[in-house]
Amino acid sequence: MPTPKDEYDHVFDLLQQHHRWFQESIPLIASENIPSPAVREAIITDFGNRYAEGWPGERVYAGCRFIDQVEFKCIELMKKLFNAEFVDVRPISGVVANLAVYTAFTEPGDTLLALSIPCGGHISSGKKELGGTAGAVKGLIVEYLPLDYKELNIDVDKAKNKIQELAAKGKPPRFVMFGASVFPFPHPVKELVESIHSVGATVGYDAAHVAGLIASGQFQDPLREGADVVSLSTHKTFFGPQHGGILSWEKNAEKIKKATFPGMVSNHHLHAVAGLTIACAEMLEFGKEYASQIVKNAKALAQALYEKGFNVLAEHKGFTQSHVILIDITKQGDGGTIEETLEKANIIINRNLLPWDIKEGRHFMHPGGIRMGVSEVTRLGMKEPEMSVIADFVKQVIIGKEPLEKVRADVTEFRKDYQKVHYCFENSTDAYKYIKIR
Ligand SMILES: *Cc1c(COP(=O)(O)O)cnc(C)c1O
Repeated sequence: MPTPKDEYDHVFDLLQQHHRWFQESIPLIASENIPSPAVREAIITDFGNRYAEGWPGERVYAGCRFIDQVEFKCIELMKKLFNAEFVDVRPISGVVANLAVYTAFTEPGDTLLALSIPCGGHISSGKKELGGTAGAVKGLIVEYLPLDYKELNIDVDKAKNKIQELAAKGKPPRFVMFGASVFPFPHPVKELVESIHSVGATVGYDAAHVAGLIASGQFQDPLREGADVVSLSTHKTFFGPQHGGILSWEKNAEKIKKATFPGMVSNHHLHAVAGLTIACAEMLEFGKEYASQIVKNAKALAQALYEKGFNVLAEHKGFTQSHVILIDITKQGDGGTIEETLEKANIIINRNLLPWDIKEGRHFMHPGGIRMGVSEVTRLGMKEPEMSVIADFVKQVIIGKEPLEKVRADVTEFRKDYQKVHYCFENSTDAYKYIKIR
């Protein structure tokens, strides 16, 4: 029987093994990133042990003198980055931000229009039958925005028709959610705003994946294009830590504030707010350079994979305008098996449904696609030449069927030169260094 101290030691051992593994791997999960040592320092402070319900300056708890100053600073810097009239930094994740947004702008039984999961949509705007947050938690009726499979984008004409059809049936959408988890091209917000507002619906934009690109002027600007409200995760293309946020206009401030607290959060993870404030300062200083390199890297990785025989989608549009690329892997295998095989070579990607997969009888465990994102490798200082090296490793594993131990050893060697976080003020601690303070 292991003693409690054995269990304790075992967990620390697992944590350290994880850190070592990531030091030696190529992280290509599109929703992940690595925060700077400064953000890591902020999130282990005592802020993480405090409560501060409510709005800064009007808290339910005492002890918030410094917490309030940091949260006000966070709001101020977020407003500057996103050119937003109103910002709420209390949602503790992107899903919680979406829940707060639904609470502010809809009632149970209302119709939500969003992308389906095979078309790149996120489970937080999913149907009740799928256990999706919008359906199962908020009681919204979810209808799907039509996707143009070739363009990998929302089909404007079909979307207009869908809105009119729903209105004619007496079930007009109350909320239309742009944004996605496979989000290579800016969505047609300005093209659809009028049609959406004409039926009395709210225009939402889920910027979980592209927040860092938007803050840096590298993607579309949803608030200027007509979005009423934007929800965020702060850790995909933004500089972390894992948290959420909402952007909107002053006229919507009170209902969003109320939906967040008391609606959705009590404690809102003050250490994460501190980390986010540091990340905002880094974004203001380094965001433009970082985001522009992200897009260059994503295009370079897509091009290199394409040239090596992979069916990277949307070649006719330059593959992507964000951090993410989508690959039809059906010639080489199924997404699940490919994901597992690459992981054994220390290349971390995720399997992904293609828009037509369900119709062709494929399933999420073994879909036809894989997704790759370059936010993290870019933060590690990699540029276009390194994208070719990565594409070559992927080819060696999937097409060359080379021994996995050999590729893994080469990946480990390659990674030795990329151990620091870039685009930050201070980086004396390595990106994945295990920090022991016991
Ligand atoms: C990742 C993601 C979310 C959820 O974000 P969390 O911060 O993980 O809760 C919401 N919407 C979209 C489109 C996403 O990709």
